[in-house]
Amino acid sequence: MIKIPKDIKSSNSEWEELRKNWTADSQIGRTIKFLNEAYDSVQKAINIVDKSNAKGYDRLISLDLGKSKAELENLSSGRELLEGFCEEIHVELEKSIDSPFALKMSEFTDDVFSINPEEIITTQVDINGKLKDVSLYNMIKPALKDSDLGKNFEKGLKNQLRSVTKEPSDTLKNAMVKSIVQAYKGVDVTTASDDDKKRMIKYYEQLYPVNVELMDKFLKPLSSNQANQVDIWNIKFIAYGSPEPYHSAIFLTLPQVKLKDNTNSNKSQRYEGLGKREIYVNFNSIGDCRTFFHEVGHAVDHQLGSPFVYLSADLFNTLESDVFGHIEGIISDYSNDNANDEEAVLEAFKYNGDPVNLTTQQRVIYDEVVGKYQDNWINVKEYITITDTYGGFTENKLIIVPIKGTRALYGHDVINSEGEAYWYNEKKDKPTGAQNREFFANNFADIVMYQGASIKNNAIYYPNSTIEMDEMAKNAVYFQK
Ligand SMILES: [Zn+2]
Repeated sequence: MIKIPKDIKSSNSEWEELRKNWTADSQIGRTIKFLNEAYDSVQKAINIVDKSNAKGYDRLISLDLGKSKAELENLSSGRELLEGFCEEIHVELEKSIDSPFALKMSEFTDDVFSINPEEIITTQVDINGKLKDVSLYNMIKPALKDSDLGKNFEKGLKNQLRSVTKEPSDTLKNAMVKSIVQAYKGVDVTTASDDDKKRMIKYYEQLYPVNVELMDKFLKPLSSNQANQVDIWNIKFIAYGSPEPYHSAIFLTLPQVKLKDNTNSNKSQRYEGLGKREIYVNFNSIGDCRTFFHEVGHAVDHQLGSPFVYLSADLFNTLESDVFGHIEGIISDYSNDNANDEEAVLEAFKYNGDPVNLTTQQRVIYDEVVGKYQDNWINVKEYITITDTYGGFTENKLIIVPIKGTRALYGHDVINSEGEAYWYNEKKDKPTGAQNREFFANNFADIVMYQGASIKNNAIYYPNSTIEMDEMAKNAVYFQK
């Protein structure tokens, strides 16, 4: 990972100041020179006294100046060393810190801006003193390419670059992330290249360190196994690039929930809410991440709701009217405008309705409607959200092949693995609410994973609910932030 903040600043003039303290002409240099002269002078005196046989100077002759000479030489070479050090260190710092930094910055901006250079615009005063819009890219690119980075940075670009290199301002940060994310919009995680994923993750993590911490903590149970490395990339790629308000919703939810391995359990993958807040997924088959983000969707739905109620509970009535409104429309295509037949067939589709009560003519309409939905939903993967919850509102009558009596399309069974009614509570004589929870989780997964075809279909089959869910999530995120 590139570390953008650069703590060491190397200024040539500062080092030049220091170098001057160690030149031969400096006070220190001159002192050493003076000591050397003193040594030579004393040595000369000793030699003269030694040769002249002068009496009474024995103590002078016995002076051992050898050590002093070695120390003076050390002092002298030390001074030269320091002078050379001060002279070279700036060049050295440029080579080992500034230039790699400049290069990385250059790569970084190249990457970011080449994706969407028009996104990032700033204003600059032109020669005539007028403000003009300049792409920040054009502004800083020449400076970044220059090896003498420090000087150019400090000239005029200081403020703009501070926001890039130190703490990106919210506006700039958002613009940068937006421009990266923009490039990956509609990119299915299964078709994105590893390079794309790594690049997106790398830049996101530079810009949102707090979210990285939350994500890494959440994924810890998964990351202990090297085999899940690709899964982690995929999960991060999806979560980081997800659109608002769901992006914020994910990071509001992560600190509240625990991730658990469901691999060796005989229960299905799921989210357990009340009292637990745990996401159970099979670590050995995360695959395209859809189930993973479906379960995250349940957790988000729970987190955004009030403590005991899922946010999507408020969506139930809209969902119900979207579903039965749509079914009514299809019925009218086959009913020859007979209001009684229309009414009877619609009732038969409802939770506790039953087609056995229909007249022969009505049964024909009923079967035609089922057949029509089956034909429309032939591309199973693009209708997961719809088949699951249209099943939920009709006790799976629309997703059962009438003749074979088996479930042909994606959905939850009417009776779950614990033997409980999944969609409709007979005792209480009302729907369980799994309808709205499954819609939220499925639609959430489609949205955060940019499943374009599914999103389009969801809007057709749930014209009001899809809009309402976005609005509700937006408000809930706003109040929780
Ligand atoms: Zn679910």
